[in-house]
Amino acid sequence: MVYSSTKASLLTQHGKEIVISPLLSVSNGIEIIHVTDFDTDQLGTFTREIPRFGSQLEAAREKARIGMQISGLTTGVASEGAFSNDPYTGILPWNYELVILIDDLRSIEIVGHSGGAAQSASKSISNFDEVEGFLEIANFPSHQLIVRPDDEYHPEFKKGINDIESLEAAIQWARQKSKQGKIFLENDLRAHANPTRMANILKATEDLSRKLNSLCPECKFPGFQVTDLRKGLRCLHCSMPTHLPIAEVWSCIKCNFRTELVVAEKFADPSKCPKCNP
Ligand SMILES: [Zn+2]
Ligand SMILES: [Zn+2]
Repeated sequence: MVYSSTKASLLTQHGKEIVISPLLSVSNGIEIIHVTDFDTDQLGTFTREIPRFGSQLEAAREKARIGMQISGLTTGVASEGAFSNDPYTGILPWNYELVILIDDLRSIEIVGHSGGAAQSASKSISNFDEVEGFLEIANFPSHQLIVRPDDEYHPEFKKGINDIESLEAAIQWARQKSKQGKIFLENDLRAHANPTRMANILKATEDLSRKLNSLCPECKFPGFQVTDLRKGLRCLHCSMPTHLPIAEVWSCIKCNFRTELVVAEKFADPSKCPKCNP
C-alpha cells in the first residue's frame, strides 16, 4: 500500500467522515486527520442560498486544499456531490459523488466516482393532510425533509426534519409565512440527512481506494486506472459489433503509459445486440 502511514487531511462536514475515514484507513493505511475549522457551506449548499464554488471537481479540490492548508499536511482528501437527472432516461433524480485525494509530494490527484439513483423528492402542498403519500416517496423519516413557505426559492426554511411532530410544526410555520398558502417540501440532500447519498459517497470512496492501491507498471505511481473502453464486442449470433467493450484502456496519471486489457468474454450475448434484439 503506497499510502500506508500517510497522514491526510479530510475537510468535511455533515458526517461524511463516518464512511470515508474507516475505509481509507483499513484499505489504504491512511491516517485521516479530520479538519472541521472551516464551514464548507461557504463553498455551496444544496438549499440554494449559496451557489457552488466552480464545478463539482473544482469544489472538491478547493475543500481538499483548504484542509491541507489548515492541517499543514501534503496530502488531502475531500468529497463533493451533485444532483441531476439519470444518464439513461433523463427522468429519475440522480446523484453523482466524487472523492478526491491530492498528493503534493507526488504532484498528483486521484479521484473516485460513483453515480446512482438519488433520494430527492419534492412536493408543493396546501395543508398537512396532503403529506401522506409524499412521505413514502420521500423515504421519511430515514431521509430528512426541508420545509419552505411558497416555493423552492423562498429564502427561509426549516431543515433536518426527521419526525412527524417537527414536520407538522414546520408546515404550520411555513403556512403562516406563505403569501399564497403554499408549502414546499423536499428531501434534505445533506449527507447525514440522506442515507441514500451517504451510501453513494461510500461507493465513490471505494473507487478512490482501489485507484490508490493500483500502481502504474512503468513508473509505479498510484492511480493507474481505466480511462476508456474500446467497444465493438461481436454478437455471438450474428457477429455484428455491439456497444459492449472488447478491451479496457488503462492509463497512468503521471507518465504516458497506456495499455489495453482485453475482456474475458469472446462474444456478446445476443440480448445486447442491436440487430438481434433491437
Ligand atoms: Zn446479433
Ligand atoms: Zn506511470
